[in-house]
Amino acid sequence: MKSRKGHRESSNRVLRGIGASPGICVGTIHRMDSGPTRIPHQRLEASQVGPEIAQFRRAVAASIEQIQALQRKLRHRRGREARAILEAHRTILRDEALLKGTERIILRQRIGAEWALQKNLAEIRTVFDRLTDSYIRERWSDIEFVSQRILRNLSGQRDLVDAPWKPHPVVVAHRISPADAVNLGRLGIEGLVSEAGGKECHTAIVARALEIPAVVGVRGLLDEVVSEQVVIVDGTRGEVVLDPTSERIEEAVSRSQGQRRRLDELAAEPARPARTRDGRRLHLFANLEMIEEARAAVRYGAEGVGLFRTEFLAMRRRVLSEEAQYRWYRRLLRSMDGRPVTIRTWDLGGEKRLPGLGMEPEPEDNPALGLRSIRLSLTRLRPLFLAQLRAVLRASVEGRVRILFPMIGCVEELQDVLEAVAEAKAQLRKKGQAYDPRIPLGIMIEVPAAALLSEVLSRHVDFFSVGTNDLIQFTLATDRHNEQVAYLYDPLQPAVLRLLHRTVRAAHRAHIPVGLCGEMAGEALHLPVLLGMGFDEISANPQALPLLRHLVRNTSYAEARALARRVLAMEDVRAIRSLVRDWMLERFPDTFEF
Ligand code: PEP
Ligand code: MG
Repeated sequence: MKSRKGHRESSNRVLRGIGASPGICVGTIHRMDSGPTRIPHQRLEASQVGPEIAQFRRAVAASIEQIQALQRKLRHRRGREARAILEAHRTILRDEALLKGTERIILRQRIGAEWALQKNLAEIRTVFDRLTDSYIRERWSDIEFVSQRILRNLSGQRDLVDAPWKPHPVVVAHRISPADAVNLGRLGIEGLVSEAGGKECHTAIVARALEIPAVVGVRGLLDEVVSEQVVIVDGTRGEVVLDPTSERIEEAVSRSQGQRRRLDELAAEPARPARTRDGRRLHLFANLEMIEEARAAVRYGAEGVGLFRTEFLAMRRRVLSEEAQYRWYRRLLRSMDGRPVTIRTWDLGGEKRLPGLGMEPEPEDNPALGLRSIRLSLTRLRPLFLAQLRAVLRASVEGRVRILFPMIGCVEELQDVLEAVAEAKAQLRKKGQAYDPRIPLGIMIEVPAAALLSEVLSRHVDFFSVGTNDLIQFTLATDRHNEQVAYLYDPLQPAVLRLLHRTVRAAHRAHIPVGLCGEMAGEALHLPVLLGMGFDEISANPQALPLLRHLVRNTSYAEARALARRVLAMEDVRAIRSLVRDWMLERFPDTFEF
């Protein structure tokens, strides 16, 4: 079979990355090699210096105008975040160090503007590398993006707005600047794929705001693709399919339509509580990494936020001071219209790095088992941890807030955490600042030791939230990021299920609620087992909630309990999976798609 263009063999070759913005699209690749590839090393005559500086200023002015134009276009659209990023870029375009510094180099070294800008950037970079304030240090990527825009204007390259587009363009690049992502979104591109970036990168943020499917962090992408190649972007699974066969395209289109239709139908159902046919209530919460997602959470019927991953705020350089954090948490509470919000303290380290604090751990052989998460908060990041606790405590008078501590592994660690909370409260009292003295404190159960000790830990906290993403990797000794052992990473493994069950029983004996906020919670297949085990809360990505609610409302708790009992007595994950599948297919033949 031949693909639509370029007579390439259909291959269905799959590249994997990180699903940064859900949804599926089929399109043609528009390769965007960001920035000029070659900086001309031009030496100037004395008489050329003045005109060169004037040209540089025109390029800066053009860049400012382009950004202003983008901001105007965004005024009536979603994407407040994108507008804020553009505002930061406009500020950079007025920055003395960038502008005057470049002009000085043109003047003194008598070289062309592109080369001078490149040299100036190298100088600014060395200054940045020495900075310890991560907020300022992290502005580097914005400076780079802005400089790329100036360089494009200097070299007279067409802005992306004028680029020739094929139908259904999917933009593929090493990195896509936020401003470009906004621009591209406006042009009606269907998907974004980048080599660089993670879930928290700007491209992902903008793509989610514009609801464009996106996959980021696809290694070796640019070695594999050419412009006009047909591609399927599956932002839900984090997959890119190159040169798909017509069958594969049909399947993608129908899955995409099905997903959209099902979500719309389910979301349109009157938001009745998730209560089983025989009266068991399951609370459905949303996992959020960004405040902007709160709107979607409310739209999809979330009863609150079950997990707010604050480290994503930190990594996006917006939140570090107590004051800034306080404002963010307050905004989150307001966006959730009075629904409860669970704020998890920094879960930094490992792959979630926050450079520039001067407090990073030494390089580690096993970062997942190293100085990360609560361990980092209690040691090297303690001042930042206390500032966070004060900010959350202060926000607690503005709405219903719970604090969640990640990666607790033993009782002593929990005691240290509780002492830190007492210290933060004392600091606030000293300053006469109000907080809710009864703010619920909970821990993530994501280290097997914590699940095994859940009877003990339950006596010291107000709630549990099970983080299966980590619990599975640690229980099964299977790296959650390693493709090669992905076949072993299974939430339905008996060892995992037994730890979950043990945690639920311990919580209920201590009369505290227990939720589950790992990714397994968002998968419909797991719902009856989790419900039947007795979980009180499920927290998942907002788009998963309508289907979960539908399933709960059409399930009998008694039957789910019987299923969970059977599953817990089984030894073989394949048998468990097929039993659960059959159970679901029997009850939800139309709604459920495997
Ligand atoms: C988890 O480990 O299940 C979890 C929810 O936390 P994270 O994915 O942020 O590690
Ligand atoms: Mg975790």
